[in-house]
Amino acid sequence: MLYAREQPAKLREREAVLVANAEKRERKSALKTRRDWLREAQAVFNAMIRERDYFKPCISCGARIMTIENGGAWDAGHYRSVGAAPELRFEPSNCQKQCKTCNSGVIRRNGRVLVAHDAERYATIHAQYRVNLIERIGLQQVEWLESHHEALHPSADWLQEQIRLWRLETRRMREQREARAA
Ligand SMILES: [Zn+2]
Repeated sequence: MLYAREQPAKLREREAVLVANAEKRERKSALKTRRDWLREAQAVFNAMIRERDYFKPCISCGARIMTIENGGAWDAGHYRSVGAAPELRFEPSNCQKQCKTCNSGVIRRNGRVLVAHDAERYATIHAQYRVNLIERIGLQQVEWLESHHEALHPSADWLQEQIRLWRLETRRMREQREARAA
């Protein structure tokens, strides 16, 4: 009996927590600037690229197995960098799985920089990216990436919608991959 009496109160309590959490999320969302949405959208887009390329090697050095030498984690590396071509920051063909060492051009060991960024070495990494990218998407598409593009001015609304869609797409690909492995 005690249990039966307590149950609705517990449910109400849980409901109140859920409502409070939703309100907190909403308040947090309302406080987010376009810049915040842009940062989140880039992280979500990059995660989608890593999932898309799950079985592919690093676009530059061809590493398939992640090691400390490769930076300890995979990145989604832009062929034309976000700084150089922000209008291509969300272009899937402009972004490929890359090891952290190739993406940053810096070799780290235990968090410390072992080999600093070197323009010449970085140019080699980029040249390897181009060769392998041509193999993946074709010369025509690479040349399209290298051509001029209209500026991109994504609104906060557009970014929020893309975050939703890219998360769905990432989940769909992951579930498909896991189903195949099972
Ligand atoms: Zn690499």
